[in-house]
Amino acid sequence: MKAMVLAANAAIETAPLKLADLPEPVPAAGQVRVQVRCCAICRTDLHVIEGDLPPRKLPLVPGHQIVGMVDRLGEGCRRLAVAQRVGVAWLRHTCGRCRFCATGRENLCAEQQFTGYHADGGYAEYAVVPEDFAYLIPAGFADAEAAPLLCAGIVGYRALKRSRVPDGGTLATYGFGSSAHVIMQIALHRGCKVYVVTRDARHQRLAAEMGAAWVGDSAAGLPVAVDSAIVFAPAGELVPQALSKLDKGGTVALAGIHMSPIPQMDYTQSLFYERDVRSVTANTRADGRELLDLAAGIPLRPRTVSYGLDQANQALADHKADRINGTGVLIVSR
Ligand SMILES: [Zn+2]
Ligand SMILES: [Zn+2]
Repeated sequence: MKAMVLAANAAIETAPLKLADLPEPVPAAGQVRVQVRCCAICRTDLHVIEGDLPPRKLPLVPGHQIVGMVDRLGEGCRRLAVAQRVGVAWLRHTCGRCRFCATGRENLCAEQQFTGYHADGGYAEYAVVPEDFAYLIPAGFADAEAAPLLCAGIVGYRALKRSRVPDGGTLATYGFGSSAHVIMQIALHRGCKVYVVTRDARHQRLAAEMGAAWVGDSAAGLPVAVDSAIVFAPAGELVPQALSKLDKGGTVALAGIHMSPIPQMDYTQSLFYERDVRSVTANTRADGRELLDLAAGIPLRPRTVSYGLDQANQALADHKADRINGTGVLIVSR
């Protein structure tokens, strides 16, 4: 099969992913094989490729927002059937026994493994996944529309929950990339006003077009103190800024998997009056199912920009430079 393979961590501008011909993977017991239709790209792919996250498997096929068709079942699979359309996301293994798994917090399990990090992912014609970690994709979404829901959507949804924004409340987002533009649609559906802070002119236009109450390039201009904020950009200096624009009792959720250092903060200006900072760590499968149900019901319409599989380096470089409005999706087969 064709795949884009990473041999060693390197900056994306050096085009470290190489097109290769790999043997088709064979599903182990409890796994299904998916014929990949498309795979969305994500900032986490950049962190994996460039080595911000310590390598777990090399060489590696990245990619963890896969939409495809089940084409082969491993021994003992009972839940899924051949020809069903499924999604494969970042989380692919938890222990199922620890105190976190036992209390609905499998996103904190110490034995977690991730697609396109511990195991080969979706920048390829085929991928395998434990069937318990594959999601059925609701009808009504084109393949490329569904792909961004699997990470940008799910992790954004968890960040939205962690931000505790009330129905009809006010929410600021710092950054307006894949996740922000997906979850903004959920926030608007819940009657929230959404304030978008981004320096990128194209992202500003998209946010305004999608119904933002206010768009600007820095927190300083925010016209109100908001109930909640989500910091999507991996920039620690935004944390004290986001806190300073929060109403009393408000919450800032940090959605990234990686962030530059957070500067020193003044307690009274940033935290007093019960303002909270909460991180967001991956997601549970329940988050994924909730998000996909919600996405079908609203319905969410992620904006996507298509690339070929062999354009993965370009797509990721565009993502890194914030040149993509919406989410980049590698189209693997139709
Ligand atoms: Zn566990
Ligand atoms: Zn992701």
